Amino acid sequence: MAFTDMQSIYSSLGINARVFDICEDVLSGLEDRFKAIDETSEFCQLRVLNAFQKNNVNESCLLGTTGYGYNDIGRDTLEKVYADYFHAEDCLVRPQITCGTHALALALMSNLRPGDELMSAVGKPYDTLEEVIGIRPSKGSLAEYGITYAQADLNDDGTPSYENIKNAINDRTKLVTIQRSKGYQTRPSLSVETIGRIIETVKSVRKDIICMVDNCYGEFVERIEPTDVGADMVVGSLIKNPGGGLAQVGGYIAGTSECIENVSYRLTAPGLGREVGPSLEALPRMFQGFFMGPVVTASALKSAIFAATLFEKYGFGSFPAGSEDRHDIIQAITFGKPESLIAFCEGIQSAAPVDSSYAPEPWDMPGYDSKVIMAAGAFVSGSSIELSADGPLREPYTAYFQGGISWPHGKFGIIKAFQTLVDKGLVLC
Ligand SMILES: *Cc1c(COP(=O)(O)O)cnc(C)c1O
Repeated sequence: MAFTDMQSIYSSLGINARVFDICEDVLSGLEDRFKAIDETSEFCQLRVLNAFQKNNVNESCLLGTTGYGYNDIGRDTLEKVYADYFHAEDCLVRPQITCGTHALALALMSNLRPGDELMSAVGKPYDTLEEVIGIRPSKGSLAEYGITYAQADLNDDGTPSYENIKNAINDRTKLVTIQRSKGYQTRPSLSVETIGRIIETVKSVRKDIICMVDNCYGEFVERIEPTDVGADMVVGSLIKNPGGGLAQVGGYIAGTSECIENVSYRLTAPGLGREVGPSLEALPRMFQGFFMGPVVTASALKSAIFAATLFEKYGFGSFPAGSEDRHDIIQAITFGKPESLIAFCEGIQSAAPVDSSYAPEPWDMPGYDSKVIMAAGAFVSGSSIELSADGPLREPYTAYFQGGISWPHGKFGIIKAFQTLVDKGLVLC
């Protein structure tokens, strides 16, 4: 009997009774939040199912092609499913789009021409885009092709400035980029409603400006997507939310027929476009991952809220706070000292299904001015929809935590991280 009670299975994984009780107590206060998350996930699940059925996904769609990949029915069907889910005219979803940055670079490079200007509506974009744009000089950047860049800075409280957005638009502004998730910044992530207001502001100046949304980490978090509020393109990575933890590689770009056609000629070659690009053996995981995406995203959201609420209770900073509305799956927790940040990451690593016996070590990562510690024990390398955490070893010692492809595992990872801090005397309880 004893073996089958919850306490003893946690105990066998190194969680003591006191920590278990504290965590159960925190969770009992989150029931309403979790119910709302389940409802959003239910809504999105049916929205996805609808797209599958409408496009008649059948068994033959799961077979891949090789070589040029002509007449790849599965690939073409998957792209229709994505387009339908996003309420977009068209979509490209491919294993040849290697990551989120690649997808964003493709969307930009294919829709901008020399002499055009790109404008970021919400301050500085994600780190890796700095080299794509040429904010940091880089070979092959948009800047090398004579495409200039402008930026609408945020208000002091991190919210979008509609005034700055209007002022940053000129005659050459061709495309406006809007980043939904804060990424590794400290501004709030944007709700889809706020994205709609930004788009409305841009279009009120000139209707033909292309509005692109970097949708990374935002898919399935709300019932609507940026394409429901006027975005011309949405872009994301399949090793985040829409891959459901199953897709092994890939990116997507959904949007208007014209924008997506432009992307297709840059993705392969002028004249070839979307007709080439074999799906190889990637389709079963891409289809199933998209199908699982809403419940997997819900697991990650619950994990984020649980982590925020638990660590707040013991005096650590959380951003967003446990009680705040969510617009993406990233949770920042501020530890104030290096030992605690390291202990948190060690706890996350030791909770992983893969590589749990390794301890993460701070290292000098290219492009960073301080050491960075990363914890991930994932089935798919670099996947950040799976339970993972990372943080730079500098003030204020913040861990960026995300993922958890099942809620029980996300929950366990956070409890294990908390237990690690307790064991090291870094939390008193
Ligand atoms: C992850 C991410 C990217 C880049 O994605 P990669 O797959 O790591 O290249 C871009 N923007 C945001 C907001 C992201 O979170």
